[in-house]
Amino acid sequence: MKTLVIEDSTSSLKLLCSYIEKIGISTIPAENGATGIDLFLSEHPDLILLDIILPDLDGYEVARQIRLLEPPGEWTPIIFLSSMNKDKDIEMGIAAGGDDYLLKPISEVVLAAKIRAMQRIIQMRQSLLVLTRKLDSANQELKRLTSLDGLTGIPNRRHFDEVLAREWRRAMRQGEELSILMCDIDFFKNFNDTFGHQKGDECLRQVANALADSLDRGGDVLARYGGEEFIAVLPGTTLEGASFIAAQMRQSICQLNISHPDTPFGKVTASFGVASAVAMPETDPLKIVGAADTAMYKAKKSGRNRVFRTTSLDPQED
Ligand code: GH3
Ligand code: MG
Ligand code: MG
Ligand code: MG
Repeated sequence: MKTLVIEDSTSSLKLLCSYIEKIGISTIPAENGATGIDLFLSEHPDLILLDIILPDLDGYEVARQIRLLEPPGEWTPIIFLSSMNKDKDIEMGIAAGGDDYLLKPISEVVLAAKIRAMQRIIQMRQSLLVLTRKLDSANQELKRLTSLDGLTGIPNRRHFDEVLAREWRRAMRQGEELSILMCDIDFFKNFNDTFGHQKGDECLRQVANALADSLDRGGDVLARYGGEEFIAVLPGTTLEGASFIAAQMRQSICQLNISHPDTPFGKVTASFGVASAVAMPETDPLKIVGAADTAMYKAKKSGRNRVFRTTSLDPQED
C-alpha cells in the first residue's frame, strides 16, 4: 500500500511520512497541489492525505480534480488534514470528494487508526471488485451456454431468433437480400427405431457438424431449430447462392455415409427448403422462415434428399 501525502509544510510532511512509514506503509511526499495531482496520476497511490491550505491549488480543488481524473469505477480514499475545525470546513471537505477529515495537530495514534480503517475499506472494495469480475465472466459464460444447443453445440432456436431479428434490421438498413435455409433429416424416426436414441443423437451431432462446415461466411448462422431440423440465416445472400449452399450441405450429409437401411437411399439424408427476400419494413422475416419451411416440405413430398427453393413468401402462390 502507498500513501500520497500532500502537505506544504516541510516539517509536517516529514513527520506525517514518518508516522505512516512506522506502520509499514510507504509514502509519496508532495509539497503542493499540482505536484500532488501529477504524483497521483503517475504513482497510483492507494490513499491520499491532503492538506487544505496549500501554496497553489487549495486542497478542495485538488480533491475535485483527483475525483475527475479517476477512471470510472475507481476510488482512492482522501483524508483531509486541516486546522480549520468549523462544521462548514468539514462539510466542504467531504463535498469536494474527501472521505475523512483529521484535525491538526495530527495525532500519530489517530492517524494510524484512521489509516487502518481505510485499509479495511480498500481491502473490502478490492474483494468486491474481484467478485464482480468473476460474476461478469460467469454471466458471459452463462449467456454463451444458454445460446447453444446442448446436444450438438451449435446455436439454439432462441439464439437464432435473436440473430434473425438483428440481421433483418441490418439488411433493411443496407437494402440487402437475406436467405433462410431449412433442413430436416429424412426418415429420422425410423433411424431411432432401428438404431436407438443414442445413435440418433450421435447422428444429429454429425449432421450439425457437416452443415456448419458448409458455411464459411462470417455473418451466416446455423442453428438447431427443433428435433432433427436445422435452420440457417444467410445475410446478403441471393436465393441462387443459398440454393447452392443447400446443395452442398445435402451432399455433405450423403458423404457422411451414415447407414440407414430403412430408406430408399440406404443412408442418412436430408431435405432442404430455401427462401429469400430483400428486407423491407413491411415484411416479417418469419415469413421467409415459413416459406423455407414450405419449400422443405415440398422437397419431402417429391421424394426427399433434395433441395427446393421458393421465390414466393406467400404459401398459397408457390
Ligand atoms: P421425414 O422424412 O418426413 O422428416 O420423417 P422423420 O421420421 O424424420 O420425421 P418425424 O417428424 O416423423 O420424426 C422426427 C424424429 O426425430 C422423431 C424423434 O424421434 C427424432 N428426434 C427429435 N429430436 C431428437 C433428439 O434429440 N435425439 C434423437 N435421437 N432423436 C430425435
Ligand atoms: Mg498547508
Ligand atoms: Mg421434422
Ligand atoms: Mg425428418
